[in-house]
Amino acid sequence: MHVPLVLTDFLDRAVHLYGDKTAVIDGERKITYQVLQERVNQLSHGLKSLTIEKGDRVAYLTPNSLEMLEGFYGVYQVGGVMTPLNTRLRPEDYVFILNHSESKALFVSEELYPLIENIRDQLESVQTVIIHGASKEYENSLNYEQWLTDFPKEGFEGEPLEETDIASLLYTSGTTGDPKGVLLTHRSNYLHALTTMHHLRVRDQDTLLHVLPMFHVNGWGSPFYYTANGVTQVMQRKVDPKQILHTIEEHKVTIMHMAPTVLNMILEETAYTNAKFDHPLRIVIAGSSPPPAFARKVEEELGWEFIQVYGMTEISPLVTISEIRSNVEPVDHSDRARLKAKTGYELIGTKVRVMDELGNEVPHDGISIGEIAARTNNGMEGYYKNEEATSATIKNGWLYTGDMATVDKNGYIEIIDRKKDVIISGGENISSIEVEGMLYEHPAVLEAAVVAVPHEKWGEAPHAIVVVREGHELTEEALLTFAREKLARFKVPKGVTFTDQLPKTASGKIQKVILRKQHWDSEGKMVN
Ligand code: ATP
Ligand code: MG
Repeated sequence: MHVPLVLTDFLDRAVHLYGDKTAVIDGERKITYQVLQERVNQLSHGLKSLTIEKGDRVAYLTPNSLEMLEGFYGVYQVGGVMTPLNTRLRPEDYVFILNHSESKALFVSEELYPLIENIRDQLESVQTVIIHGASKEYENSLNYEQWLTDFPKEGFEGEPLEETDIASLLYTSGTTGDPKGVLLTHRSNYLHALTTMHHLRVRDQDTLLHVLPMFHVNGWGSPFYYTANGVTQVMQRKVDPKQILHTIEEHKVTIMHMAPTVLNMILEETAYTNAKFDHPLRIVIAGSSPPPAFARKVEEELGWEFIQVYGMTEISPLVTISEIRSNVEPVDHSDRARLKAKTGYELIGTKVRVMDELGNEVPHDGISIGEIAARTNNGMEGYYKNEEATSATIKNGWLYTGDMATVDKNGYIEIIDRKKDVIISGGENISSIEVEGMLYEHPAVLEAAVVAVPHEKWGEAPHAIVVVREGHELTEEALLTFAREKLARFKVPKGVTFTDQLPKTASGKIQKVILRKQHWDSEGKMVN
């Protein structure tokens, strides 16, 4: 008997087994899985009335919220393709993505609607705009809550779904250039969810705080595996460390996913408030590599568990996790922090290999650097309307990630850098991540990014851009002296620029592409 792996199964299970349990807490609103299903049914009936059919793209521009979670399941029930939009883009980016994806309907929260209002006449495919949380009437738009009440709460019988149907069209973060549209099937997302819930040990007693934006692939896998387990999901609309700490306490949150930059803000806040918690919490760190010092602080000072995961939109997203294996015990505290923070081991269902330029594995010596390639049942079908990028990424059944790493004799994968961020100075490869990790050890450094700048003698040289912690002073010379004590000479930045803030993507990743541009002129010379 063939039972297709389709994402609607997850909500069905939650309603069947946890119908009266709290599914979502979003500010003052608190609803059960049964009520969530009723709202999802109303939404699916509503989408049908808008003539959304199998394969049609439905876009969402909404912060983490009840509406966003129900959107996933409402869209899937009608066979639609969920197309979430990053909430921090520019209006012209929305024009591009909405037209490129040919989205038929757009759901948008009231506070983000001004971003859309002015570009509506440029949208070629969007037929209906539905506003979440609308406090008044908007021209040519539907008010979500009013609109929902027109439709029945009872079961929705859609067209049967197949596991090979496209579930999601997800645009990459655009950290390195223009966002690309990634097509993921129900099967990919489903298998990713099964794998992830196993590795993160998700249980029905968990309470999740959605910190990572759900429009982003990392935050976005979570509506599947937490829902399937009947977990209570608390919505965090804004990244506010004070509020996050308050919510952890109030709702006894047991797990949250975030980028290292957000964790850094929380660590700052806990140092300031001396916050301590008496219940277990797992912190899942994704998106970029934090220095091992973060893992040490989280585990030793706060008593929370630190978990590092690695992945990308193209693979649903996760392919490695920093579990401590029973047959590879850390030798001491700092080794534990290293194993927890630096990257990890392949997940079930995924082969992760580090390849040289000829497509052969590099030696498992923890030193040889190559590109991470993954063969996984979580993988994408391809980039939407971009054959060229698809065939440059998927080669011989392996998905090439553009991330450089080493692998040791135990199979531990350590990310060195993105291919584009590696600094090649006098023929030596320098990992910007390694240099940043060292800079973070300086007590006055709040944030640091290291990028290649042009250098007459060496071709490129590392340059640091640093945000100094409030109440501290730091000079270029003091920081470079500190760096010289800890790094091989060729890795020491040749200069430091101090700034108030670093450019970041919506999920909190530092956009080095922007920093690099600021330091290179059109002739390839350094700009100060
Ligand atoms: P774009 O592809 O549009 O430039 P992006 O690559 O940032 O954007 P995502 O798919 O959101 O878009 O991010 C995946 C990338 O994030 C990975 O390729 C990797 O470079 C980085 N990344 C993810 N997890 C980690 C991690 N644990 N450590 C280091 N880097 C990570
Ligand atoms: Mg990418």
